[in-house]
Amino acid sequence: MGCCDTPGLMPVSAAIETLLENTASITHSEIVSLTDAQNRITSEDIRSPINVPPFANSAMDGYAVRCADLASTQTLPLAGKSFAGVPFEGNWLQGTCIRIMTGAEIPEGADAVIMQEQTTVEGDNVTFTVLPAAQQNIRPIGDDVKTGDVVIPKGTLLTPREVPLLATLGIADVPVMRKPKVAFFSTGDELRQVGETLGKGEIYDSNRYTIRAMLEKMHCEAIDLGVVPDCPEQLRETFLHAADIADVIVTSGGVSVGEADYTKDILDQEGEVGFWKIAIKPGKPFAFGRVKNALFCGLPGNPVSVLVTLHVLVQPLLAKLSGHTQWKPTIPLKAKAETRFKKSPGRADYQRAVYRLDKNGDLVVGTTGNQGSGAFSSLSVANCFTVLEQDRGHVEVGETVTIEPFNAVLS
Ligand code: AMP
Ligand code: MG
Repeated sequence: MGCCDTPGLMPVSAAIETLLENTASITHSEIVSLTDAQNRITSEDIRSPINVPPFANSAMDGYAVRCADLASTQTLPLAGKSFAGVPFEGNWLQGTCIRIMTGAEIPEGADAVIMQEQTTVEGDNVTFTVLPAAQQNIRPIGDDVKTGDVVIPKGTLLTPREVPLLATLGIADVPVMRKPKVAFFSTGDELRQVGETLGKGEIYDSNRYTIRAMLEKMHCEAIDLGVVPDCPEQLRETFLHAADIADVIVTSGGVSVGEADYTKDILDQEGEVGFWKIAIKPGKPFAFGRVKNALFCGLPGNPVSVLVTLHVLVQPLLAKLSGHTQWKPTIPLKAKAETRFKKSPGRADYQRAVYRLDKNGDLVVGTTGNQGSGAFSSLSVANCFTVLEQDRGHVEVGETVTIEPFNAVLS
């Protein structure tokens, strides 16, 4: 199918823009304990209540000195010790040094720590083999974070990189956004649940598993409403129930030519929905709108189309809804094709592929085979999408292509 055969296809970027324009962030926040804060999104700027480190401390095991004392001698008598959690207390005489361990508080008046490898010790006398520079091996108070600094901005997803930072600051309760509630169901008379026996012409419903797995990775509350047959009454009832309990309704099936009219009839009475033809492969048919107060994303039925449209189109919408303002799409990379990629101009192609470094250290990418919109086998072995531009035709070996390594949601 050439571009001239497919007039009116909506470019992917325009589709995303429209989705985002119609999505507002959740405004409700809640307080969770630090233990439960991972994968939540901050609802306020988090400021530090303390300095980190909270006191000047030693970066080395060694000896705290006053540099001036070493102007005329290399040897100082030992006057005491400062260990982590057990600082030196008392009066520190001029012309002496203090044994100090990493992380221990710097005694008042010390202006350098000399590492133990640069000393020789005889009884209570320490001889220094180097002259110290002022402030060496001292981590000053507030060196990392100062009281009042914004350490984590509003709209940040809390990961293993932020959670320990909050612990370092002694923050036990974290203000986070309420999670988006997403109700989802599959549609189709041909669908059976896993665990059931397939009858003639029936297939297992896999889309709900794709949707649940991805929604959970996108840190949403996933509400499974099961499989709904192609029955107007049941569909209408399920849509209305979903709109009552969720911020977003995600369905699969029933939006392609031949089925869209049917879904449209049901939704026209209860909401407002547009049926789009997006210039994306797989995943051309896509429905978007509202059912009462809930947003509605109608994904195509084909299993790989479900995954691709959730990834490319619904993910940015859910990020915005979640208040995850720091969310970014995967950074695309350039790689050299090491296999041929079959492609017709007309739609942006998200092909399942494997990227790797070749023996010269250059990024190369090859297809994982069958790119049919129902072919899951070529997906599980892939580690990226090769994203082939809308107007591009076949790609030959050696040509440069754009790849998008799978992000955390698909990994
Ligand atoms: P539809 O968009 O409803 O016409 O479905 C397109 C194709 O995807 C058909 O071959 C369906 O049988 C298949 N399909 C639809 N829903 C599912 C599902 N939940 N799991 C697996 N395949 C599905
Ligand atoms: Mg169907």
